[in-house]
Order: sequence, then C-alpha cells, then structure tokens
Amino acid sequence: MAMFNRSYNPLDDLRDVFDTAAQKTYEAFENSKEYVERAKLRNELNDKYRQLGKAEFEYAVGETDDTDTIDALVAEIRELRDAYVNICKMLRRSEAPVCQRCGKQNIQGNSYCSNCGARLYTD
Ligand SMILES: [Zn+2]
Repeated sequence: MAMFNRSYNPLDDLRDVFDTAAQKTYEAFENSKEYVERAKLRNELNDKYRQLGKAEFEYAVGETDDTDTIDALVAEIRELRDAYVNICKMLRRSEAPVCQRCGKQNIQGNSYCSNCGARLYTD
C-alpha cells in the first residue's frame, strides 16, 4: 500500500518548507536593505533640492552671481534622482505584481499575467 511506501520521506517535504522559508527570509532581508537605501536617497535628494532652492533664490534676488553652485547642485540632483528611480523600479519588480488589466495577483518574476496574459510592467 502506498501508505508504507518507503521511498517517501516526510522529512523531504519539511526540508522543502524550510528551504523556501529561508529563501523568503533572505529575500525580505535583501529587500529591507534596498528600502533603507531608497529612504537614504530620498533624504539626500530632498536636501539637495532645498540647497538648490536657496541658491536659486539668492541668485534671483541678486545676493550672488554664483551659478557654479547651482550647476553643481543640478548635476548632483540628476545623479541622485537616477539612482532613486532605479531603486524604485528594482523594488517594484521584487514585489508580487498585480495585473493592471484584470487585477490578478501574480507571482514574483512573472512578466505577463498568468490569468489574462497582459504585460505586468510597462517600463
Ligand atoms: Zn491579468
């Protein structure tokens, strides 16, 4: 009888469960680093925007004719913003995607909806 099938080892199932859990924990940990990084980038970005606002204001009211500071800030903001957008995209891809057409929650890594076949990402 199948009940006494010796080739079936219930520990194998258990091992699979633990492996999957360990993988998920690891992914969650990896993601949490990315979330911290994203928050850090957002803060830096806000700080640079504030500095740029001040520099632009001082230039506008004629307190300074220094445009080098403004140019440097714009360059820094451009870099920070690219990094921020990239990390946002990466994090979005690491989350289980929801289909925009039919609302089906798809599994992570799918590019197309398993229900209706629509593309899950537009970028
Ligand atoms: Zn769909």
